[in-house]
Amino acid sequence: MIDFHCHVDLYPDPQSVMRACVERGIFVLSVTNTPSAWQGTVALAARVPRVRTALGLHPQLAAERIGELELFRKLLPNVRYVGEVGLDGTPEHRSSWVAQLRVFNDILDACGKARGRILSIHSRGAATAVLDTLSAHRSAGAPVLHWFSGTQRELSRATELGCWFSVGPAMLVGAKGKALVDRMPHDRVIPESDGPFARVSELTLHPWDVESVYRDLGHLWSVSLGEVRLQLRNNFRKLVEHSSTSFDGPESTYMKPRIS
Ligand code: MN
Repeated sequence: MIDFHCHVDLYPDPQSVMRACVERGIFVLSVTNTPSAWQGTVALAARVPRVRTALGLHPQLAAERIGELELFRKLLPNVRYVGEVGLDGTPEHRSSWVAQLRVFNDILDACGKARGRILSIHSRGAATAVLDTLSAHRSAGAPVLHWFSGTQRELSRATELGCWFSVGPAMLVGAKGKALVDRMPHDRVIPESDGPFARVSELTLHPWDVESVYRDLGHLWSVSLGEVRLQLRNNFRKLVEHSSTSFDGPESTYMKPRIS
């Protein structure tokens, strides 16, 4: 199984989550919210196969942590994956909009100069602004829109732009989320949990909960579970191996997708 967006460092007991992922052979993209959290989060995955740590600066922390952009640039040569980054246009984060734009633009600019990265992107209440910013930074790499909640029209634009979509159990609970997932190209979908932030029926999601995504996609696409697994594994391979990014950092931060 694949969980392409999980905040492993924010569970009360990250080590036990890691152990469970090893036992189940799950690939996890462990995203971070600040550059200063990256090193400690990398350490959590030190002896864990199939877990890769992304370097991020969450839009909700953009104003508070704008001073960490320098650390972001310094760490960028070490990573193949960048996230969580993006923009948040919901009312409670509107006051940091200028800082958010500055941070997201700077990050995409740095990724472009580093010849591209695979990006896990937040776009809540800001899909159009995220797509505008991505359009202005076409060499930033392969954008994966996590928990996309824009309109159908914004979804079409994202698809035309070449975006990927990471889809979690919480997104598949409501009719709007389901309708969006239904219109996503099957070859651009990747599962995610967004744990421990995302919940379903009051329960905190974990990487293994992506199992329900496989099941739900089978229903939406009218194909067997085996076919869903094959499709998602191929998508993952294509994203990681053939995306338009050029990474020449240490192999330890690069995931060869040998997954079951
Ligand atoms: Mn997240």
